[in-house]
Amino acid sequence: MRIDSCQHCHGTGYHHTGRDGTGSAYLCECVRACEVCGGDDSPAGDGFRLVTLTSPDYGDYEAAVQCPACYGIRQILRRMRAAGDDTPPRHSGARFQDRPEQAAIRRTLQAWVAAWIPGTPGFTLVGPTGVGKSFLLTHLVGALRSKHRVIVRYEDVGSLVQRLQRGIASGGITAIIDDVETVEVLVLDDLPRQWGSTWASETIGGVLRVRYDHQRTTVIATNHDEAGLRELWGGGEWGERMLSRMAQMAPLTRVGGQDGRSMPTSPAWRGSAL
Ligand SMILES: [Zn+2]
Ligand SMILES: [Zn+2]
Repeated sequence: MRIDSCQHCHGTGYHHTGRDGTGSAYLCECVRACEVCGGDDSPAGDGFRLVTLTSPDYGDYEAAVQCPACYGIRQILRRMRAAGDDTPPRHSGARFQDRPEQAAIRRTLQAWVAAWIPGTPGFTLVGPTGVGKSFLLTHLVGALRSKHRVIVRYEDVGSLVQRLQRGIASGGITAIIDDVETVEVLVLDDLPRQWGSTWASETIGGVLRVRYDHQRTTVIATNHDEAGLRELWGGGEWGERMLSRMAQMAPLTRVGGQDGRSMPTSPAWRGSAL
């Protein structure tokens, strides 16, 4: 079957183990049995096909070239796997519409996902523990992956800081930082009450700064309101700069209240003097 007319994946080429685009991604049968290259059984390898080329020196010879039908999809899957199945497992399988009290914010998030393009500013979900911020983020991650085939990295901030600390010992810290600085969409769940060390504050602050400079979409969840965030970033000039960056790259949006009206839907922070 042709990939673009597949009734099972509607041309996306893959499925997720969970509903609503959550859980691990796996290739659709239409890719695995790609009729252009022979799919998984292609003699040139998965995602490649053999073509005959002619050289003035060697005459005809066979070369493996990327399959126009399935190579791109296989690459996306590889990158998704490299990014990990990283949504919080406690929420997989739940549906976006399971919590009626979140109807307003959910509509706002769905509109944001629908309008997303690379470079779209994210937002910071602000609200007390228990209003369902992680739940919303889980479904945001799933919706972004299925609609835009984009690589989304979900990180619980506490676990990320621990991983970075272990990375110092093992020498792997640069790779971890590179990953969170460059991934197309970064979701940082639950900024801590306090950083615990200047190093943690500066490291995560540095990641946000790089993402800001390169206009990469960043979504954050936190219990802190604006005053709390200023304090979290240590106050002073640095605290003000961090708040000001966040206001542009991830404006505050309250959950548990009435609205999410301040959500940006287009790239808007280029040319800032920060
Ligand atoms: Zn398919
Ligand atoms: Zn193919």
